Amino acid sequence: MSDVVTRIAPSPTGYMHIGTARTALFNWLFARGRGGKFLLRIEDTDRERSTPEATDAILKGMDWLGLDFDGEVVSQFERAARHAEVAHDLLAQGKAYKCFSTQDEIAAFRDAARAEGKSTLYQSPWRDAAPETHPETPYVIRIKSPKDGVTVIKDAVQGDVTIKNDQLDDMILLRSDGTPVYMLAVVVDDHDMGITHVIRGDDHLNNAARQMMIYSAMDWPLPVYAHIPLIHGEDGKKLSKRHGATGVDEYQLLGYPAAAMRNYLARLGWSHGDDEFFSDEQAKEWFNLEGIGKSAARFDFKKLQNLSGQHIAKAEDAALLHELCAYMDAKNQSAFSDSQKDMMLSGMYCLKERAKTFDELLDKATFITAVRPLDIEEKAKKSLNSVSRCILETLTPQLQNASWTRDALEAECNSAAAAHEVNFGKLAGPMRAALAGRAVTPSVFDMMLVLGRDETIARLTEAQALAD
Ligand code: GLU
Repeated sequence: MSDVVTRIAPSPTGYMHIGTARTALFNWLFARGRGGKFLLRIEDTDRERSTPEATDAILKGMDWLGLDFDGEVVSQFERAARHAEVAHDLLAQGKAYKCFSTQDEIAAFRDAARAEGKSTLYQSPWRDAAPETHPETPYVIRIKSPKDGVTVIKDAVQGDVTIKNDQLDDMILLRSDGTPVYMLAVVVDDHDMGITHVIRGDDHLNNAARQMMIYSAMDWPLPVYAHIPLIHGEDGKKLSKRHGATGVDEYQLLGYPAAAMRNYLARLGWSHGDDEFFSDEQAKEWFNLEGIGKSAARFDFKKLQNLSGQHIAKAEDAALLHELCAYMDAKNQSAFSDSQKDMMLSGMYCLKERAKTFDELLDKATFITAVRPLDIEEKAKKSLNSVSRCILETLTPQLQNASWTRDALEAECNSAAAAHEVNFGKLAGPMRAALAGRAVTPSVFDMMLVLGRDETIARLTEAQALAD
C-alpha cells in the first residue's frame, strides 16, 4: 500500500464523455500501479444541471470500462455543511471576510474601473473593515487573496505555470444564502479525501491557482497537479459529435471490448516508448506522469479498431464470450441459448480471428445463431445449383459414419468432390450456403466441427431439397 490517492470528479450533467473516461483511466492506472487508492466523487453541487440519470451513466461507464474505485461514491452536494465550516474557519482566522457589497455596487465598481482602463477584478471595501461597521444585511464570505507576488503551479505535465497574484480576486467562498462555491468544495473534498495527485483536464489549470489560495490559507499540503491536454478530433479541433462518438456508452454499443478501450485511451495523450498494444498489467506498471504529452491528443478511430481487433484475438475464450453476452444485453439483442453458448465457446478460436468489433464477431457467428430453415442470402443461393446439390447428396451419407475430426472431414469432402470430378474448391461455396446461408463464412471445416454431426447433416439435407 502506498500513499497515492487519486480521484475522478465528474459533474453529472449529461452523458459520460470519452474525455472523462480517459481522465478516470489515467487516475486509475496511476493509483493501481502504485498500490494506491482511486476514488470517485460526483460533483453535484450545481442542482439545476445535475441529474441522477447522469450519475447513473457515469457509474455504468466506469463499470463497463472496468475502472473500479475504492470506498463509497462521494457526493459533493452532501458535504456542503463541511465546505461552509471551512469558510467560517477561514473567517475566524482572519483569512476571509464578510463582504456586504450589493450587486449594484459591484457593477458600479466595474464600470468605473473599465472607464479608467483598470482591472475590473472586484476590490471589496469590506476586506479590512472593522466588525463594528458591519451592517445587518446579507453578505458573502470572500477569501483574502494575496496582493502581490506570484503563484506558481508546479504542474507535472505543464511544468511551472506562473500566475501574477494581482490577477486573483478575493473570490467568494460562501454565497449569501450560505451555499459554498464550487472552487471551495473541490479543495475541501480533495483535502478531506486525502487526494495526493490531481490528474485532470487542462481546462482546470486556471482553477488551480485559485484553489491553491485556499490550500495555502488553510495551511493544507498541496496535491501534485497534472493537467492533461484535451482530446481533439482528427482535424485538430476539440473532439465533438461531429467527429463521431463522444459518449462512453456509444463506444460500448459500437462493440469494442473494454480492454481495447482502456489500451486505446491510455495511449491518447500518454506514451511508453513505441508501445501501442499492451495489457492492463503493463499499463499499470508503466503509467507515469512523465509520459503524458503536452499537446492535445488526436482521436484516431482506425487505431482504436486495430487495437480492438488485437484485443479480441488475444482474449481468453470464456472471458470473451462473457463480455460478448454483456454486449448483446446492452444492445437489447436476444441472448444465446445454452447450446449456442457451447458452440460459441468451441468456435471462438475461429470467430475471434480478424474480428475488429463484437459486431464483426457476431456476424461471423451467424452459422451458430441461425436456425433451420436457414435464411439463405441471394448470393449464396446461386452456388446451390443442381450440380452442387448432387455433390452434397453424395457427401451427406458419407458424413453419417465419418469420425468428426478435421482430417476425416477433409478427406470425406475431397472424396465427394472427386466422385463428381471437381476439386473441393467447387464444393466450398455450396457448403457455406448450406451451413450458414452466407457466401462469406469461417472455414467449412471449422463450421462442421462446431455445429457437430447432426446439425451439419440436417443443414446439408435441407439445402439439397431446395429447388432451383
Ligand atoms: N467536475 C469537474 C469536471 O467534471 C472536474 C473537477 C476536477 O477534476 O477538479 O470537469
